[in-house]
Amino acid sequence: MRKWSAYEVAIKQFDKAADILNLDEGLRKLFKKPKREFIVNFPVKMDDGSIRVFTGYRVQHNDARGPYKGGIRYHPNVDLEEVRALAFWMTWKCAVVGVPFGGAKGGVTCDPKEMSKEEVERLTRRYTAEIAPIIGPTKDVPAPDVNTNEQIMAWVMDTYSVESGYTVNCVVTGKPISVGGSVGRREATGRGVTFITKEACKHMGKQLSQCSVAIQGFGNVGSITAKLLSSEGARVVGVSDATGGVYDESGLDINKLLLHVKQHGSLEGYPGHKKELSSGVLELPVDVLIPAAIENQITAENMHRIKAKIIVEAANGPTTPDAEEHLLKKGVFIVPDILSNAGGVVVSYFEWVQNIQKLFWDEEEVNQKLHQIMQRAYNEVWEIANNRKVDMRTAAYILAISRVANAVKARGIFP
Ligand code: GLU
Repeated sequence: MRKWSAYEVAIKQFDKAADILNLDEGLRKLFKKPKREFIVNFPVKMDDGSIRVFTGYRVQHNDARGPYKGGIRYHPNVDLEEVRALAFWMTWKCAVVGVPFGGAKGGVTCDPKEMSKEEVERLTRRYTAEIAPIIGPTKDVPAPDVNTNEQIMAWVMDTYSVESGYTVNCVVTGKPISVGGSVGRREATGRGVTFITKEACKHMGKQLSQCSVAIQGFGNVGSITAKLLSSEGARVVGVSDATGGVYDESGLDINKLLLHVKQHGSLEGYPGHKKELSSGVLELPVDVLIPAAIENQITAENMHRIKAKIIVEAANGPTTPDAEEHLLKKGVFIVPDILSNAGGVVVSYFEWVQNIQKLFWDEEEVNQKLHQIMQRAYNEVWEIANNRKVDMRTAAYILAISRVANAVKARGIFP
């Protein structure tokens, strides 16, 4: 069985669409490599007085359509190849939804769950100081990703501001409201996923209220998706995190689950919690499967046991190409990450715009504009899928690559 790296997955997906587009060989080469890869090794003072050296990354893939944009991830598995793939996906994500950004991603190899809040703060501030020369409101605008949150974005903003000598809130998005964050940003990815799930169900001839749903991952994206979907009438029967998961055929009480995680930090200890459901949740007998954790979860190893007819990718890169091919042949409708989970970066864009304008919108306005953009993107992708008789991922790439290619062609190649 082939083992895929996230970057190999990304390139395979890209090539499929580039072939159909007959993309110019030079552009193909340009898009396959990031413009810049920045690696920093930096010391952090730990609570016990020792010094640890961490490795951090910021990969800037393409900025033809605007400043680089993408999250910062804290995870033990973060490495250059993963961050490179995530940066690559950001370029296409921003292009699919038509927000004027390029793609980037950052990460630090660490396990924040094993660190104190103070250690995470010092790590964040030092990492920010190290990447400060290449980020900025008009250069590269970070945001939250796996294991990073509003508090961490506030520290990024503060560190960058202290170094600049004045407050620069638009250097980062996903901030707390008190320092210029946007209402609706925290829920935005989950809200977008919920919207896309509704559209996908419609496409498969079903109402949301007739659908059972399983969600892998109960962080920001997974938990908010669970909450919004169940409040819209879907039956969320299975959820999981790294510790395990819970399954109840008649539907889970999401508020109770959220309260448990708030009190205990994970799903562990929740009545009915089973360790094996951590990835077993992917194989539950449900209508809709939402991977909302990390890459390479739906693979050649478990693809034969996947029962869902609809997959909405809330995580980045959760499906390997061989698994996708198998599932598509079986008639599974897969909505790709670069479309499904784009709600986060869309509201990041709104946050950036509000910061620059110094004029803030209310939640209704944010949600309505988010809805508009997601609807437009979904329709555009669906139309390409339909006209060209390709799957939704390939259609999304066709749309995205065309937009970025047009930007590069319009700008020309310097000198
Ligand atoms: N980390 C999120 C993503 O993968 C959000 C990025 C952003 O808002 O810039 O899309």
